[in-house]
Amino acid sequence: MKRHDTAEVFLGKLGVGGSHPVSVEAMGRTHPSRYRDTLDEIRLAQEAGCEIFRLAIPDEESLEGLKKITAESPLPLVADIHFAPQLALSAAGSGVGAVRVNPGTMGERAQYRELVLRLADYGCVLRLGANAASLPKAFQKMKPSQALVCCIAEWLEEPLKLSFHNIILSAKSSSIEVNEEASRNLSHSFPYPIHIGLTEAGEGTDGIIQSTLGIGMLLREGIGNTIRVSLTSSSPVLETQVGVGILNALGLRRRGFQIISCPTCARKKGDVVLLVCELKKRLGKLKQTVPLTVAVMGCEVNGPGEAREADVGLAFGRERAVIFSRGVVVETVPHREGMEALLESIITFTPPAGKQLQHNS
Ligand code: SF4
Repeated sequence: MKRHDTAEVFLGKLGVGGSHPVSVEAMGRTHPSRYRDTLDEIRLAQEAGCEIFRLAIPDEESLEGLKKITAESPLPLVADIHFAPQLALSAAGSGVGAVRVNPGTMGERAQYRELVLRLADYGCVLRLGANAASLPKAFQKMKPSQALVCCIAEWLEEPLKLSFHNIILSAKSSSIEVNEEASRNLSHSFPYPIHIGLTEAGEGTDGIIQSTLGIGMLLREGIGNTIRVSLTSSSPVLETQVGVGILNALGLRRRGFQIISCPTCARKKGDVVLLVCELKKRLGKLKQTVPLTVAVMGCEVNGPGEAREADVGLAFGRERAVIFSRGVVVETVPHREGMEALLESIITFTPPAGKQLQHNS
């Protein structure tokens, strides 16, 4: 899949754009003044695969917490600020990797200029993100996707006058169509990395479907350098898992375990659902960082064949389960020993000669 060429920027040590892989961002739920809780959230999100953590900074109190969080955070942070340019100025010097500014809520241009200068002083990225629901008045009568791009273009003038290019852009909407058009136009119009994601995508399955389609279609076109799945949930872990899953499914990244399992049918010879549930729990504890595809199939008629590409797999036979690796049967075991045999094959799996597994890149 060919990626759109973009400039390269760094959030701390994390490269974004250029030849760097697409990164997963998640957003904190706790108020940063409860900085210990926020740090716990960051670590949990990191374990799930998050690489950039965004924090809302709504007040002075959260700014105090932010300083403590940046001192300990294992992930680069994006300070998300609305309606309070003064907070944005302070956040820029607090050790965050980026400050997110929404043109619809930033206020005076003079303060914006001061912010860009401050970001330049601290080597901080400007995350310029317009949102269809909060566009400045001047753009509200335009077609939404066009308005988002025009708004970004106008707000790019100041940084460009100051020769500031440490920029990531985003143009979000809750409509897949608007989101897609706006992000595509941003990508074709400007050389900067693009952050993509549907805003207010919803909860549970609905939100996951919306986000997967909205983000996935753009990634398939080579657009998007960082992604965030916005889900209504009390923790950033699920949105991280979905983001990682989208990148895995598209083959853009390979991290952790990818489980391929059949839907089961009347031909199944064993309990695929139970085995997959148990397998997920056990794999979660392995903390393995090498990517591995694991297949679980309900029968051996199509099992190993359907999962030929899997690194390791199990297919239930009438009395015994078949353990296979890349389509080749390596052993057969009684059903009750299937889980342990599969885990053993996962732990001892070695990639074929000349084909190195990538670490968590
Ligand atoms: S692998 Fe076997 S049990 Fe599973 S869906 Fe295919 S035919 Fe049915």
